[in-house]
Amino acid sequence: MAANPQVVTGSAPTVKLLINGQFVESKAKAWRDVVNPATQEVIARVPMCGADEVDLAVKAAAEAFKTWKHTPIGARARIMLKLQELIRRDMKKLAAILTAEQGKTLPDAEGDIFRGLEVVEHACSIGTLSLGEFAEQVANGVDTYFIRQPIGVCAGITPFNFPAMIPLWMFPMAIVTGNTFVLKPSEQDPMTPMALAALAIEAGVPPGVLNIVHGGKESVDAICTHPTIQAVSFVGSCHVGEHVYKLSSEHGKRAQCMMGAKNHAVIMPDANKEQSLNALVGAGFGAAGQRCMATSVAVMVGEASEWIPDIVAKAKTLKVNAGTEKGADLGPVISRQAREKIESLIAQGVKEGAKLDLDGRNPKIPGYENGNFIAPTVFSGVKPEHEVYKTEIFGPVLVIVSVPTLDDAIALINKNPYGNGTGIFTQSGAAARKFQNEIDVGQVGINVPIPVPVPYFSFTGSRGSKLGDLGPYGKQVIQFYTQVKTVTARWFDDATTSPGIHTTISL
Ligand code: NAD
Repeated sequence: MAANPQVVTGSAPTVKLLINGQFVESKAKAWRDVVNPATQEVIARVPMCGADEVDLAVKAAAEAFKTWKHTPIGARARIMLKLQELIRRDMKKLAAILTAEQGKTLPDAEGDIFRGLEVVEHACSIGTLSLGEFAEQVANGVDTYFIRQPIGVCAGITPFNFPAMIPLWMFPMAIVTGNTFVLKPSEQDPMTPMALAALAIEAGVPPGVLNIVHGGKESVDAICTHPTIQAVSFVGSCHVGEHVYKLSSEHGKRAQCMMGAKNHAVIMPDANKEQSLNALVGAGFGAAGQRCMATSVAVMVGEASEWIPDIVAKAKTLKVNAGTEKGADLGPVISRQAREKIESLIAQGVKEGAKLDLDGRNPKIPGYENGNFIAPTVFSGVKPEHEVYKTEIFGPVLVIVSVPTLDDAIALINKNPYGNGTGIFTQSGAAARKFQNEIDVGQVGINVPIPVPVPYFSFTGSRGSKLGDLGPYGKQVIQFYTQVKTVTARWFDDATTSPGIHTTISL
């Protein structure tokens, strides 16, 4: 959903690159405005870097790897300990930057930062996380063990919707495992990642260990094809993720891509009505529906369909306003383009015959008349062939599908091409157990609306929502960012008699 790059000549401050520990001005010819989505104010200009600046960042990272890979585990962990302290210190400042460029409410911005902070805290445990295994006496006098080693220069490409959490999924784990890193944040909100990078430098990350370039397709393609980069971690839309996975793999890199979603919540008729509908409405409209784990489809089973008017009533109570305003439940969507796309999908839903129970188009927000606002929108009577069901709308639009049984709900979800997150609301353990067993989706919530795993587990995804087998954080990413080396060793004791020459395969 990234907007087209444009050459801008305004006087807003420029977003710098981070190369070899220095914040430097880009020499890019094309620049793009970073726009406050609540006001349309241009708050910065970001360079659209080309392959030359990506190469500068990679060269700095490759040079730094020569020494960083030998840095003791404890020294790396202590930098992460310092980083988590600095992020806590600057939480309010970071949230203000995040809300200004991304639009989400200040409390939600703090949540975005906090979920990333948890990954930094997890990175502090690198000592135990990176332990190898050892088997003594696999044959006479022979031991086998494995060690984990960093793989070199790694890169991350991140989306606009979590400008703190997702960069923090990536660079802390990549560098704490002994790699060096090149981050390419979303060009729509690059200032939060830059503020986090400044804290990383303050925490003691040495020059070249973390580098940042900006831009869109050109810089991403340069990353995916650069011969020095060993691994690429991507989070974003399916369309771009498929491209990144293919291009990186073709160029011999490890790749992992966390991609788009259409998350269904199943509401069973025996669910706790008040709790479940509150959870549904919060997960559907929070962050203006721009979470990859947002609930965008409610599947009402049997008599639960009678609660549709209650969902609409609850959605109506949410307050849409600039993220900086007290009491705002949801802010604007990221860009004019995004707003237009969402509005046109709503119009198409109406045209295709879905019932528009709540129309959130063109809300009047006093003082923010230019903002990209869309209020909560609810469709019921939605069919799987409707575009509002098929497309990831990525806005505050909840579509409601009614089905007779839990089996029908499971079949519907498993037929949808995406497999990012889902949930079931029920008081029945048997129904919940059947659901968790049969559903083909990465993250499953049981009476939990947005089941993003904490960092000692790993985020995942299934089918169209993920490419690559390992998750972007947690224990799985230790494997992604390290090379396992298995050693089989025998130490000769001078007193041992030589067994002679063996030509068979045995130890
Ligand atoms: P996006 O795919 O437009 O952008 C992601 C990154 O790719 C950005 O850094 C962008 O600069 C770059 N990019 C954009 N167009 C490109 C192109 N043509 N070639 C190469 N690179 C390109 O995604 P977005 O709009 O920033 O983010 C929203 C999407 O991300 C949604 O689909 C959402 O579901 C998904 N998302 C998924 C997860 C997950 O964990 N599964 C988490 C957050 C967001």
